[in-house]
Amino acid sequence: MRYIEPHAHMVSRTTDDYERLALAGCCAVCEPAFWAGFDRSSPAGFYDYFCQLTEHEPQRAAKFGLQHYCWLCINPKESEDVKLAEEVIALIPQFIKRPNVLGIGEIGLNKNSRNELKILEAHVDLAARLGQLVLVHTPHLEDKLKGTRLILDVLRNEPRIRPERVIIDHVEEHTVGMVLDAGFWAGMTLYPETKCTPARAVDILETYGRERLWLNSACDWGVSDPLAVPKAARELKRRGHPETQVDEIVFGNPKKFLSQSPNFKLP
Ligand SMILES: [Zn+2]
Repeated sequence: MRYIEPHAHMVSRTTDDYERLALAGCCAVCEPAFWAGFDRSSPAGFYDYFCQLTEHEPQRAAKFGLQHYCWLCINPKESEDVKLAEEVIALIPQFIKRPNVLGIGEIGLNKNSRNELKILEAHVDLAARLGQLVLVHTPHLEDKLKGTRLILDVLRNEPRIRPERVIIDHVEEHTVGMVLDAGFWAGMTLYPETKCTPARAVDILETYGRERLWLNSACDWGVSDPLAVPKAARELKRRGHPETQVDEIVFGNPKKFLSQSPNFKLP
């Protein structure tokens, strides 16, 4: 099988993981900028991180035959510090033309605070000004429903942003409908403990159909599984979904969305 991993934090993973992805049929891996597990103390920390995402990590992936792409932003958690966030956002335009950059992400909300909302709006404005795709992180657990509603309001209030150029990630049973109904793409994150399991994600696909949905592992420095997408593909096949439909979900759909960026090219 072939597939695209549209959301993985490879800077936190080992070369063994790159090898396993390649052996499982992964042809491209896309890495949104996110929280490193600790708060960075200055914009310089983000400058170095953006260099890592646009220079070093593509080279590391290439050694295993994988294309590496990235998204740039300051994540919602560290956006609580508005001054820091504004300084980091000011760094982004100098990186946006680099060849593996797909857009602005993963922006969004963490605790649905006023400061996070302010910086979410600043990122959406940046994406609109630079004509970039947007990848959105939705909050965890009890904050998810409210946070998803707030995010959709921000995006719908920005006429320069077209919904088909935005993916709202980490949807679950109670948020996927409102995201798709509003015309956005929706990402399902497969986690061993929190978020969706492969079986739940397949249930959602069977309920909502395949259009404008993708699957990702969002593997990072915590408990997560870099092979979650091929495992979900196996679950789809086990339940009798034909090979062509599985290919559409794990390869065709992410290719369709990501190809809206001129930088996204498969070999
Ligand atoms: Zn992420």
